Amino acid sequence: MSSAAEVSPRAHLEPFRTRRTFAIISHPDAGKTTLTERLLSAAGAIQQAGAVRGKAGQRSTRSDWMEMEQQRGISISSSVMTFEFDGLTMNLLDTPGHSDFSEDTYRTLTAVDAAIMVIDAAKGIESQTLKLFEVCRLRDIPIITFINKVDREGLAPLDLIDEIQGKLALDLTPVLWPIGQGVDFKGYIDLLEKRVVTPQGKTLAEFDAIDDLLEVESLVDDPVFMTALETLELARAMLPDFDLKVFHEGHMSPVLFGSALKGIGVAELLRTLGDWGPEPRPQPALPAPISPDEKKVSGFVFKVQANMDANHRDRIAFVRLCSGTFTRGMRLKNVRSGKDMAVANPMFFFGNNRELAEEAVAGDIVGIPNHGTLSVGDTLTEGATINVTGIPNFAPEIIRRVRLTDAMKTKQMSKALSDLAEEGVTQVFRRMVGADWIVGVVGQLQLEVLASRVAKEYGVPITFEPMGFEVARWVESDDPDELKRFITAQKTNMAEDRADAPVFLAQNAWWADRAKQDWPKIKFLTTKERH
Ligand code: GDP
Repeated sequence: MSSAAEVSPRAHLEPFRTRRTFAIISHPDAGKTTLTERLLSAAGAIQQAGAVRGKAGQRSTRSDWMEMEQQRGISISSSVMTFEFDGLTMNLLDTPGHSDFSEDTYRTLTAVDAAIMVIDAAKGIESQTLKLFEVCRLRDIPIITFINKVDREGLAPLDLIDEIQGKLALDLTPVLWPIGQGVDFKGYIDLLEKRVVTPQGKTLAEFDAIDDLLEVESLVDDPVFMTALETLELARAMLPDFDLKVFHEGHMSPVLFGSALKGIGVAELLRTLGDWGPEPRPQPALPAPISPDEKKVSGFVFKVQANMDANHRDRIAFVRLCSGTFTRGMRLKNVRSGKDMAVANPMFFFGNNRELAEEAVAGDIVGIPNHGTLSVGDTLTEGATINVTGIPNFAPEIIRRVRLTDAMKTKQMSKALSDLAEEGVTQVFRRMVGADWIVGVVGQLQLEVLASRVAKEYGVPITFEPMGFEVARWVESDDPDELKRFITAQKTNMAEDRADAPVFLAQNAWWADRAKQDWPKIKFLTTKERH
C-alpha cells in the first residue's frame, strides 16, 4: 500500500476521475462476503481502519458526535465500504444478501458505475445472479466477472464461459486463466501482467506473447499447464479481444478465475477495476442527464437507513453524488420538497469507521443524518430543479390491510408507516373508499421486518390481513378524462400512493388483464419512478 507521502500515480487527475463506485452481485453462497473481506484486506483497508483506531486524534475529521452515534448503535457500517487503492477511492456498495429479492438491491444498483459478478465455478449462473445481471443490463452497467472457488472441483473453464455467454448474451474476455482446478490447481496465467503465477503468488514465467510460454521447459513438461494453455488459446480464438469502450458500454466483461477464500486473483480483480473500471458515469435525469464534470453539486438518495435505536428517530440517507464538489456545511435543496438543508454532518464510511465528510465529488457516497426529511429517490442540488430518474418503485406482490390492535395509536401508526415507506421498506397506500391503510411489499420478509420495526421503534402493535387483492398497478393515461372515468368506475378497487398517484388493485392477474382489455387508453404500470 502506498503511504500518504508518496505521490499517487493518479494525482494529476480531477478528483472525481479517481472514484470507482461499484457493487458485487452474486447468488447467495457464491462467495460475496469472502470476496468483500479479501478486497478490503488486499487494498489495506482493514489495516487502514486499524491504524485509524490506533492513532486516535490524528485524523482531525473524527469528532465526538460520531462516538455518540456509535454508542447509540446505528448499524450502518456495511452499507457502504470506502477504501483507498492505488491512488483511487473505491466505494463498494453492499446489496442485501438474503434471497428475498428486494427493491433495495435495485436501488443500490442505480448508484453504482460498475459491478463485479461473482460466480461459483461449480454452479455457473444461478437464479439471483441472473436477476441482478438483468438489472445491471437495464442501465448498461459494466461488469467484471469473477469465477470463484477454482481451488475446488468445478465446471471446466470453457463450459463456464459458454454458459455465461449463452445465458447472459454477454461477450467475455479472459484476464486470469486457471491452471488446473480443485486438487490440480497450480496457479494462473495473468494476461494483464503477462505472467504465470503460483497459488502462493510466485511468478514462474513472464511472456510477451502467450506462445513464448512454450519455450519454458518446466511448464511445458506439466500436462496440467499444457491443458490450461490449450483451453486458453481456444477461449481466445473464440472470444473477442478486450475493448475498453465495449466494456464501458456494458457489452463485454473481463473474466478472472480465482478463489476468494485463498485470496487468489483478488489483487488482479482490484487492478482490473482500478485500471479499466469506469469513472463516474453521467446520471440519467430530467430535464437532462447530469455529467460528472458539471460544476454544481447534485446527488440523489438511493437508500435510507433508520437508527436501530428505538429512542432516536434519526436516519442516515445515503446520497450518491453525481456532479460538483460538495463541501461540509453546504446548503442543498431537496428538489422534491423544495426545502433547503444545511448539510452539517455528512459522513464517509471507512471499514467499520465513519468520518465527517469534508469534501466529496461525483461517485462518492455521503451519509446524511436527518429526521425524515430525505426519502429514497430525492434529488439534492445547489438550487437547480433537476430530477434524477430511474429509481424505481416496484408494484407490490403482497398486498395487506393493516390492522391496529390498539385504536388509540392511529396517529403513531400513520407516522410509523409513512416513515418506513420513506425508507423504502414498504409501500403505503390509502384506499379511495373507506379509510383502510394498505401496505404493499415485494417479499414476505419485508412484511415481517415492517411489523417488527413498527412494534419496536414506534410501540405500535400491528397485524396484517389479506384483503382479496393480489395485483397492484399504477394507472396513467394520456387522456386525463379517460383516467377520471376509469377511477370513478373502479372506485372500490382504487387506492393512492404516498405521492397521491392512483393505484389500481385487482383480485388477481386475470382481473388485471381484463381491465387492461376493457380500458385500452389506460396504462397499467408495474414500476413507478420516485420523484
Ligand atoms: P455469500 O453468501 O456469497 O456472501 O458467500 P460467502 O462468502 O459467505 O461464502 C459461502 C461459502 O463459500 C463459505 O463457506 C466460504 O468459505 C466458501 N467460499 C468462498 N470463497 C471460496 C473459495 O474461493 N473457495 C472455496 N473452496 N470456498 C469458498
